Amino acid sequence: MRSAHALVDDLTARIRPLELELADAWWESNTHATPEAEQRRIAAELARQRLFSDADTFAEIRAARAKLADAAADPTADALVRRHLDILHDAFMPHQVPEQLRREIVELEARVESTFNTFRGTIGDRRVDNNAIDEILRTSDDSDERRAAWEASKQIGPEVAGHVRELARLRNRAARELGFRDHFALALATAELDEDRLFSTLDDVDRATEEPFRTWKRGLDELLAARFSVDVRELRPWHLDDPFFQETPAAGAIALDDIFAGADLEALTIRTYEGIGLDVRAVLERSDLYARDGKSQHAFCIDMDREGDVRVLCNVEPNERWMDTMLHEFGHAVYDRETDVTLPWLLRGPAHSLTTEGIAMLMGRLPRDPSWLTQVAGVGTDAVDAIADRLAAARRAALLVFARWVLVVTNFERHLYADPERDLDTLWWDLVEKYQLVARPDARNEPDWASKIHLAVVPVYYQNYLYGELFASQLAASLRERAGGLVDRPEAGETLVRDVFAPGASLRWDELIARATGEPLTASYLARELST
Ligand SMILES: [Zn+2]
Repeated sequence: MRSAHALVDDLTARIRPLELELADAWWESNTHATPEAEQRRIAAELARQRLFSDADTFAEIRAARAKLADAAADPTADALVRRHLDILHDAFMPHQVPEQLRREIVELEARVESTFNTFRGTIGDRRVDNNAIDEILRTSDDSDERRAAWEASKQIGPEVAGHVRELARLRNRAARELGFRDHFALALATAELDEDRLFSTLDDVDRATEEPFRTWKRGLDELLAARFSVDVRELRPWHLDDPFFQETPAAGAIALDDIFAGADLEALTIRTYEGIGLDVRAVLERSDLYARDGKSQHAFCIDMDREGDVRVLCNVEPNERWMDTMLHEFGHAVYDRETDVTLPWLLRGPAHSLTTEGIAMLMGRLPRDPSWLTQVAGVGTDAVDAIADRLAAARRAALLVFARWVLVVTNFERHLYADPERDLDTLWWDLVEKYQLVARPDARNEPDWASKIHLAVVPVYYQNYLYGELFASQLAASLRERAGGLVDRPEAGETLVRDVFAPGASLRWDELIARATGEPLTASYLARELST
């Protein structure tokens, strides 16, 4: 058998070109969507999967890992080699299922994804895309029109529900082949997440948010009832500003769009990061920031080569939402850029999805931060003082709304994989009523859960967003104590680089967080932000 070192070196040499090609193909297909670009992306994904499904290599990784575990007391055993083997093990494991089953899953996922990309709901005989639906839900005062738009957003549900259920069955079959209870358990285990700990954290978050959310929601409902001239008891999901109640409706927040109406969001992004000693100009130059035909409507950051070529895709418009998104995506970007380049290639990258989401969320919160508004955006102190209370309320509302939404999705996914045959339509609305306090539509029997694309194509991922929020709150508290805050504090930037970005994936996420903030990840800082 080869040494663990030789195995890691060989796998790095094989994985690296596949990842480079995939990154390039991904960027191409998202910025210049053509059938050729799509084909190239699929081919790159399949090539990568082929390597990760190789049974002999997986056996070698396991053997090398077992040998190192035996030698745990051996001080000469290299900690970075151990870390490599853990990461490789988790990357290979989910692919160790019969070829036929794997292909069925991939093909069904691709089919559902393309249904999502091409399907458009209808209002009357008008086909509407998501932007048109969102526009009605943001602006219309007419309950009937809103209801029609909301229903249009759910019409995809019956188109894909059977396939999503089938995907759950197939993923479960694959997980059981690997000795796991179901796909939910497998997905957490291969993402270094402990299921008991996840559910105890979700309970903590539920407890910390339940009362404040109930109080806030009561106020919101009164505003909505007045706006739509209905009784509070007649409010239904279409009275909210988005199809899932993922975001704070304007009525429950504060409108900052005026501040950003004439603003240069690129300049504000540069200025924000400059204030903490980080230069994002090299990333900006390579980014694709404005809406265009044939490009993705979403936003993301991608590390092309783990050698400094980091890019952001956005569809920037001068408003608060895009300011938040720009700062969010460039949070991912500085994380990628500041990872220690002397680390081995496979360890150059975030410790975990949840740590990079945490940094991005920490930065994305800034447009509602009084010091950012005065020092970076140049809003007058008096004007910011005048809205300080409402800003604080808006920050709390954003945390509450998002946390309650994650509780719905994560609990739903757990039940979905525990029993894909159960009555999911009812379960979904039970959870929405319980956590989001939104009354289900009367006499509705539709698979509304299936209209959430994440369940089909990014399964068992949502918990990372919640952990990300907890990490952001914990980091903010730690930076206040150690650097006096974040905005225009170069010491805060130095701390983030040294304790969070530079170590890359050389540490497990929980160890990284404990070292960076002085204690394990906890929900108590989020709870504190909700009670002040
Ligand atoms: Zn993100």
